[in-house]
Amino acid sequence: METRNLLRQLPAVDQLLQHPRLKDLSRESHKMVLALTRRVLDDWRLKIKNGATLMPEPDQLVREIENRYHEAGRSSLRPVINATGVVLHTNLGRAILSPAAREAALTAAGRYTNLEFDLEKGQRGNRYSHVTGLLKELTGAEEALVVNNNAAAVLLALSTLAAGRETIISRGQLVEIGGSFRVPEVMGQSGTRLVEVGTTNKTYIHDYERAVGPDTALLLKVHPSNYRIQGFTREVTTAELVELGRRVGVPVMEDLGSGFLIDLEPYGITGEPTVQEEINQGVDVVTFSGDKLLGGPQAGIIVGRRDLVAAMARHPLTRALRIDKMTLAALEATLRAYRNPDRAVKEIPTLAALVALPEDLRHRAGKLQKLLTSVLGSRARVGLMATTSQAGGGSLPVTELPSWAVTIRPEQGGAAGLVTALRRTDPPVLARVQDDLLLLDVRTLLPGEDEELALALVQAMEGAVHGGEPEPASEQEG
Ligand SMILES: *Cc1c(COP(=O)(O)O)cnc(C)c1O
Repeated sequence: METRNLLRQLPAVDQLLQHPRLKDLSRESHKMVLALTRRVLDDWRLKIKNGATLMPEPDQLVREIENRYHEAGRSSLRPVINATGVVLHTNLGRAILSPAAREAALTAAGRYTNLEFDLEKGQRGNRYSHVTGLLKELTGAEEALVVNNNAAAVLLALSTLAAGRETIISRGQLVEIGGSFRVPEVMGQSGTRLVEVGTTNKTYIHDYERAVGPDTALLLKVHPSNYRIQGFTREVTTAELVELGRRVGVPVMEDLGSGFLIDLEPYGITGEPTVQEEINQGVDVVTFSGDKLLGGPQAGIIVGRRDLVAAMARHPLTRALRIDKMTLAALEATLRAYRNPDRAVKEIPTLAALVALPEDLRHRAGKLQKLLTSVLGSRARVGLMATTSQAGGGSLPVTELPSWAVTIRPEQGGAAGLVTALRRTDPPVLARVQDDLLLLDVRTLLPGEDEELALALVQAMEGAVHGGEPEPASEQEG
């Protein structure tokens, strides 16, 4: 048919809006349905002008409008299934909160609270008081403060303690933690002058000692977090640095990054100092994240000497880096669980995932394998495989956590096609591909997700998801 004829046959906006299904939708939002109807018709007009020779049925037009309506109405931030085995995946929101922390955040969100009100005295209270007592108790530090995240904690500490003066740090610790946090840049922002000592692989205490001068404000130690220099290496111990700091009268600060509050050595996780160990050794200020190994909400925690932390609390930046009430509520509940370490390991999902036993993971994987085998039938071969998961989030970079994965070899399309299709299911599923097998590491699957995962796999294999170009792999922040 001729282009002009086709164009004339395309229904008018008002005519299409009379369709019963669009009338229904219009009751929710007439404005949006009107705008989408116009857009769909415009798109078809363009297609016809560009040579399309098929006239869309009204039903197809209505379906397109409905699809766009539902897509626009869906939240941008939504749940995904993490089958990557990376426990603290920065791109996927790091730590999952414990049930108690979730409930506390929900209460703080939906009700008035005594956030900054002293109920005893009937006057203005202190926002930080809800967690400082717990932090002092758990870490043995004299004083504590919390801010928006650990990057903010480091910025605040350096701005307060060392602006306009010198901070000494080892060259081996000038690290980047994800593209957005580079130690030298944060130091620059705080206004302190960076004095690098030692070499990339070896730094001795006399390197620090020689650099100390009248303008030295701070000796800084940064946990390398996401990498290890192995082989011919030497870093100064905390004890050596504290001894020097005492001798020359300069405070020692440690950016611990992850910040364990309990020793997981009985569970086979070694090589990470706890916050209290560092405080015990005499470090004056320790900073760490709330949503890494602590397993709480995003927060930056500062503990240490009373006078130094009090000075930070008075700094104007503190107001700008303030922690919000839902976070504070979740943090308090998370910290409370640490009063009983056995309880913490059970209740805090991050810790539970880290210490999960390989035999239990194998059992879980076996159950998932059975479910997927029955749901997928002849569409795929479903197997079991031993694998290793990672802590992620720049934590425990060299610790390999032995785990189990369910493997999927689709009859059609290959594992690479399947992993792409799984990002477009509802909910989306994130998984790994290895040797043309799709790997679903059960360590990071939450209770109750197996059935959702099975349905998502069926959706992905039936092609019932939007196609599109594979996107480049996301960069996991370290
Ligand atoms: C992760 C990390 C940071 C940044 O912490 P956020 O809570 O992500 O802001 C800073 N320093 C070290 C050593 C880290 O590992």
